[in-house]
Amino acid sequence: MPKPLMDTYSPPNLNFERGEGAYLIEQSGETYLDFISGIAVNAIGHNHPEAVAALKEQADKLWHTSNMFRVPGQLELAGKYCRDSFADRVFFTNSGVEAIEASIKTARHYHFSKGRPDKYRIITFTGAFHGRSYGAINAGGNPKYLEGFGPKMEGFDQVEFGDHDALRASITEETAAILIEPVQGEGGVRALPSSCLRGLREICNAHELLLIYDEVQCGAGRTGRIWAHDWAEEARPDIMAVAKGVGGGFPMGACLATDEASAHMVIGTHGSTFGGNPLAMAVGNVVYDKLTAPGFMDQVVNISDTLRRSLADLRDVYTGKIEEIRGRGLLIGLKLKDGFGNRTLVNKVRDNHLLVGVAGDNVVRLAPPLIINEGHAREAVTALDRALDALQPEQV
Ligand SMILES: *Cc1c(COP(=O)(O)O)cnc(C)c1O
Repeated sequence: MPKPLMDTYSPPNLNFERGEGAYLIEQSGETYLDFISGIAVNAIGHNHPEAVAALKEQADKLWHTSNMFRVPGQLELAGKYCRDSFADRVFFTNSGVEAIEASIKTARHYHFSKGRPDKYRIITFTGAFHGRSYGAINAGGNPKYLEGFGPKMEGFDQVEFGDHDALRASITEETAAILIEPVQGEGGVRALPSSCLRGLREICNAHELLLIYDEVQCGAGRTGRIWAHDWAEEARPDIMAVAKGVGGGFPMGACLATDEASAHMVIGTHGSTFGGNPLAMAVGNVVYDKLTAPGFMDQVVNISDTLRRSLADLRDVYTGKIEEIRGRGLLIGLKLKDGFGNRTLVNKVRDNHLLVGVAGDNVVRLAPPLIINEGHAREAVTALDRALDALQPEQV
């Protein structure tokens, strides 16, 4: 059989044809409860009628002009992002990694424009994931992602996650910024305590560094607040990259920044052909309105508390298999005990018609749509229970 796709992924033998809220429907007609939602993307569920209507309406009018011309939907959505956050300015992208690239460029250009071109180094953390561009794999520092792609890029200093002394020691006159995920996603669903975010803010103030949050995965309401760092109000960033959930499934992202941090991002410094395209903006506006509707975030907090209580009960039943339940809100990690395989569990869970994902550090990752209810939570816990019951130690 010809294999026209690069072998960068190995999906299971399923063909999903339709989505409906928290469910995906396979060609065969079988339904699966989707508790990974395209990796924390389908925030308001699949096939949301208002998002579909907005996309269709825009599709009938205008698809694309490029940023050579004004895109009204950009002004509207950027206005909403700025209204509710630390940010004063927004640059729209098509993906998370582009939002990260824009963030890194904004931080470096800030110091450059203040007469400090030598101040370009960025501090990042072990277990970080910032995307797969050349810049982002160097920022993320994961040796597996760097190997085979030429020399390592200068300008990133990686510090052990949680090692405060190492962090302080790594700051030099050349440091421009600290880049961190308030909740690490790919690295193993590890939430940073609010006190740590506040500590980072203080360090940045003391050393004239910019604080960059990567909220590509943990933002867009995932943790029960619109942005994950809203849980630590005093720890606002200067720059933030968002994507995944903000488009609800339509590819889009954004780099948000303060006036101060972005003042030098002027004509010629950055650009994108597709970023902030009218179709993306039509959907992005609906998604943001849904996430910020009165009571929506309270519901996310409630359902995540309910789900987490049930998962804690599962952990008590399977103490020999589950080490801990971690993460924040509806970004949840089940860390398995040594000897048990997260991929094996994900496959067994899928056999029980529940879709979940893996993350680093032997973690099974749950990132359901934010619209799930108690019935969905119960269904998921039942499927996890069955799969955990059947889970055997890995053969070595
Ligand atoms: C997914 C992700 C990215 C990259 O986003 P893409 O849209 O895949 O480019 C960057 N940072 C974090 C934290 C992510 O989870």
